Amino acid sequence: MLDCKASGWPILYLGLPLGGNPKACGFWDPVIERISSRLDGWQKAYLSFGGRITLIQSCLTHLPSYFLSLFKIPASVAAKIEKLQRDFLWSGVGEGKRDHLVRWDVVCKSKTIGGLGLGNISWRNLALLGKWLWRYPREGSALWHQVILSIYGSHSNGWDANTLVRWSHRCPWKAIAQVFQGFSLITRYVVGNGERIWFWEDLWQGDQPLGTQYPRLFRVVVDKNISISSVLGPSRPFSWNLNFRRNLSDSEIEDLEGLMRSLDDLYLSSSVPDARLWPLSSSGLFSVKSFFLALSQSSGSPQNFPSKFVWKSQVPFKVKSFVWLVAHKKVNTNDMLQVKRPYKALSPDICILCMKHGESADHLFLHCSLTIGLWHRLFQLAKMDWVPPRSIYDMMSINFKGFGNSKRGIVLWQVASIALIRVVWWERNARIFEDKERNSEFLWDSIVFLASLWAFCSKAFKGTPLNVIQLDWIAVCTP
Ligand SMILES: [Zn+2]
Repeated sequence: MLDCKASGWPILYLGLPLGGNPKACGFWDPVIERISSRLDGWQKAYLSFGGRITLIQSCLTHLPSYFLSLFKIPASVAAKIEKLQRDFLWSGVGEGKRDHLVRWDVVCKSKTIGGLGLGNISWRNLALLGKWLWRYPREGSALWHQVILSIYGSHSNGWDANTLVRWSHRCPWKAIAQVFQGFSLITRYVVGNGERIWFWEDLWQGDQPLGTQYPRLFRVVVDKNISISSVLGPSRPFSWNLNFRRNLSDSEIEDLEGLMRSLDDLYLSSSVPDARLWPLSSSGLFSVKSFFLALSQSSGSPQNFPSKFVWKSQVPFKVKSFVWLVAHKKVNTNDMLQVKRPYKALSPDICILCMKHGESADHLFLHCSLTIGLWHRLFQLAKMDWVPPRSIYDMMSINFKGFGNSKRGIVLWQVASIALIRVVWWERNARIFEDKERNSEFLWDSIVFLASLWAFCSKAFKGTPLNVIQLDWIAVCTP
């Protein structure tokens, strides 16, 4: 009569399946199908490496957010999605169709430590789930808060829901509660009236909870779960209601004096409630992005990646991503091909520019006689003495400041260095694949033109005509 169809669980509500089991792989099939159908739609062969990075960032990473913001993704499903991304990123790179030039865990790292900032799906998932932990104490009157509270009860800290969840896998809160430990390590408390913050156990003063800062006092204190206002009273002078189990020793008295001194600047304001702060963002409010970055940085040793040189330079994105590959020594030079695809390597394994040495990224972009001649020319122009560093990676990491400290000087030096790398790579390919050979004078002119063009397009050189930049680099960089 009402023309309603009876359908089984799970049903779709706002695009999210209700009542399904997120631990079952089938639950995630729609996500995987959507990603792979998007990917098939693109003509990968016609996209540059930089173009593929952009597409993965803009689309693939945002597509499953819908699901990831509520459910914990099973490792096997995360692996499937990452494989789709990985194959897409490396499809059609250079000669080898499926060469994965840089390890995926490196690719996922943030740009400052040498990755592409794609992020691992599981971290993204945790960061999105963390949002609920942040919202929970702030939305005390919301229905969802009341539902969670009535099912799980309150956490002993008085802010969060209980994290000991022994309920069915169908309730998303269980997965969210698992993020609590990482989340609570980051949150800090801001003292208002001091009624909701635990004096000893919460992080509100210094870099650690007071119980950790003063372990000897914490051991002998009677009330460990006690709020700031219960200890200090409502206002100054503080009443210091601390009950110790026994008389304090001399060293414990010294600790107590230190503790009292450290709170000299503290004021309680009775009209302002205590608050929780997210120190990773400048606003103090939680953001998925900052939590995600913290998660990706904690799992991987940060190294000195020349991220400024690679990502902050004023060159097209396509070029940046090429320089990123060079920094990782992962362009398809001969030594790489020898290892990965011996049948494709040029034989004999010799650098086409000098015809003397083997071809590696360090040789081709730095030590080769032709290349080093170009570098010398750049440094001579800047009137700088230099000693060629050991590797192209070091070359990018050293802050040479050849054209001075001005904004323009820094921009121009970077684009000139990158233009040099780019032109050497073009020349190498022209000699191998097109049998063309240009002399170093011609290459230098190409570098000057390319670098001037990039500089001309940058903000720092706004209003300066291209031919003026090209004419005298030193003059345009002198303030
Ligand atoms: Zn060479």
